Amino acid sequence: MFNTRKAASTSTNDAENAALKRDLKRATPQPEPPKMFEKILIANRGEIALRIQRACREMGIKTVAVHSEADAEAKYVKLADESVCIGPAPSSLSYLNIPAIISAAEVTDAQAIHPGYGFLSESADFSDRVEKSGFVFIGPRAETIRLMGDKVSAKIAMAKAGVPCVPGVEGALPEDPAAIVKIARSIGYPVIIKAAGGGGGRGMRVVHTEAALANAVAMTRAEAQAAFNNPMVYMEKFLENPRHIEFQVLSDTHGNAIYLGERDCSMQRRHQKVLEEAPAPILNSKLRDKIGERCAEACRKIGYRGAGTFEFLFENDQFFFIEMNTRVQVEHPVTEMITGIDIVQQQIKIAAGEKLTIKQKDVELKGHAIECRINAEHPFKFTPSPGRITTWHPPGGPGIRVDSHAYTNYVVPPYYDSMIGKIIAYGDTRAQAIARMRIALSEMAVAGIDTNIALHQELMNDAAFIHGGTSIHYLEHKLAERNKEK
Ligand code: ADP
Repeated sequence: MFNTRKAASTSTNDAENAALKRDLKRATPQPEPPKMFEKILIANRGEIALRIQRACREMGIKTVAVHSEADAEAKYVKLADESVCIGPAPSSLSYLNIPAIISAAEVTDAQAIHPGYGFLSESADFSDRVEKSGFVFIGPRAETIRLMGDKVSAKIAMAKAGVPCVPGVEGALPEDPAAIVKIARSIGYPVIIKAAGGGGGRGMRVVHTEAALANAVAMTRAEAQAAFNNPMVYMEKFLENPRHIEFQVLSDTHGNAIYLGERDCSMQRRHQKVLEEAPAPILNSKLRDKIGERCAEACRKIGYRGAGTFEFLFENDQFFFIEMNTRVQVEHPVTEMITGIDIVQQQIKIAAGEKLTIKQKDVELKGHAIECRINAEHPFKFTPSPGRITTWHPPGGPGIRVDSHAYTNYVVPPYYDSMIGKIIAYGDTRAQAIARMRIALSEMAVAGIDTNIALHQELMNDAAFIHGGTSIHYLEHKLAERNKEK
């Protein structure tokens, strides 16, 4: 009886308080809450176009798919609310065609453009032109992309913001050969010559001796000019046994930045990632928090907007910054699986001007996730294998996520990247994630084209990987040994 009366009186007070609050709210002018987009244009293709579309649909946002003539039949094109053909198959005429993409946004009345990864995602010029045309670019401001897109200026900015970098000389290499020799001596061999505008694992050359230096610099310069239209190169210490560990960050336009832990992407071929996992098997939480916080702080300092990744090499318990990616990454799902945070939806919310509602203390890393990139290529010779997929049976079951736009009868076009999907396995422990990935790979049936599934199956049974991961050079050595045996 007593309890009931108390409850009744409390609820009367609550009602009065609420009424008071309402009156107060009416009296004080409230800032307009940020408006969520109604329609987003997705300036990309393949699995990431589908991934972004799924995020939009869940948020009730309409989508516009832009596509080349080669992708007209793609699943995400059919599923989009609207679609626009932006040109013929070669990406230079379609997915890299800025005027065509902007006019597609104009005719469909989209409010924002999501660039995905690759293509125009890290083009400052694109970000600039999108915003000058009155659309929101879902990514950082053009000046941030410009700063981070030039690896020399990125390293200088990060060193200034307190992020540890690979030992080397700040700034680009001079022309004078004698000065270059002096720099290499001061760093100590082996050194690596890298293109300031490089990406995709290209434009890098390792130098072990002084005799090979001048030629290596000249060749990297020529390559950088041809591939990136920028001959600027720089030099850093070549680390002989590091892991590749990268930190995911989210940073809003109100000065809030958080990190969502890290990913280990050390399993690489030709400086390109083959599989990724989160968390990194050899990192302790103290070191994670220390470096993660530095990354978040760097975001606050440079006024970073959106999702981003700080890439590091990690050797002898030390972190060395190599570059920042100012976009969503292929491997973002492993972070989503262990944090429960939808990174693509966060990108969209930040672009719409919303404040991050997730605080650093709310970010909890739970369990372990591994991602295998499924490529249309020979598993050991790596020759691309485009063509019609005659059978496509993706795996399922507890902890398995498949991000792919492929299906039975889908034709993998020869014009683009060979990645056709990703399998992500989640488990309470790393051992469980590996066990689930093994089952998933064994269930996956693809016919009509070659895939690299057999390579992933070998890696999931590789003693060094199972034991806790490897250095970035491991896979190349393993493949070389394998070739000798065969
Ligand atoms: P990209 O932008 O082309 O991906 P990165 O600078 O991110 O180039 O480097 C890609 C990969 O190249 C790294 O993950 C690592 O495997 C290798 N690499 C880059 N810098 C070094 C270095 N200083 N020492 C050893 N390996 C390096």
